[in-house]
Amino acid sequence: MTGKPLVAILSGAGVSTDSGIPDYRGPNGLWRRDPDAEKLVTYEYYMGDPEIRRRSWRMRRETAALHAEPNAAHRAVAELELRGVPVRVITQNVDGLHQLAGVSARKVLELHGTALACVCTGCRVRGPMADALARLDAGEDDPPCLECGSVLKPATVMFGESLDPVVLGEAVAISKACQVFVAVGTSLQVQPAAGLAGVAVDHGARLVVVNAEPTPYDGLADEVVREPIGTALPELLRGLG
Ligand SMILES: [Zn+2]
Repeated sequence: MTGKPLVAILSGAGVSTDSGIPDYRGPNGLWRRDPDAEKLVTYEYYMGDPEIRRRSWRMRRETAALHAEPNAAHRAVAELELRGVPVRVITQNVDGLHQLAGVSARKVLELHGTALACVCTGCRVRGPMADALARLDAGEDDPPCLECGSVLKPATVMFGESLDPVVLGEAVAISKACQVFVAVGTSLQVQPAAGLAGVAVDHGARLVVVNAEPTPYDGLADEVVREPIGTALPELLRGLG
């Protein structure tokens, strides 16, 4: 076989912690430890309770002020693409930092959607989160869809919502096709994302796990790296292709 190997990178919250973004939704994430906060990102509560929505929007307005920047791990993935290595990113993060680091948007699959956009729960029209936040600045506390008046929500996958089957299908296809599968900064405890590592191994890929804590897939991995992601991932990716 000629050519460079297709590298799939499954990235979790641990990739963005160096950018100051905490782990919100992992098994030990902020949402799970605070049932009150979890309601803000649970579809049933969000749709059923205007007060939950008002709190959710306030919370987004506050966190949007963080203006997170990509870190060394995001840049290392972007450099891999620049070097001509075929790479696809499957991310559990909603922060858009892989794209901000320079990875082509079409090569990033956002399993849990994006916090940078909003979507209408009625007509499904999408728009920038910045536009919704500007409406909050202007005094609205639960901005409805401007097209149809239905409830507007962030374009993230809330608890109680299913992953987009098209995005998940593409993630499975990439996991089957890749030669190297790097799971980085993810505890590999949340399905179906975690199962992608198993799919990759079943189809002959080399599995590398980069995570501070043990994962259920370490036993299947060809290489397990416990070093800090910000230094370990750039080093690992330089050795590929
Ligand atoms: Zn609408």
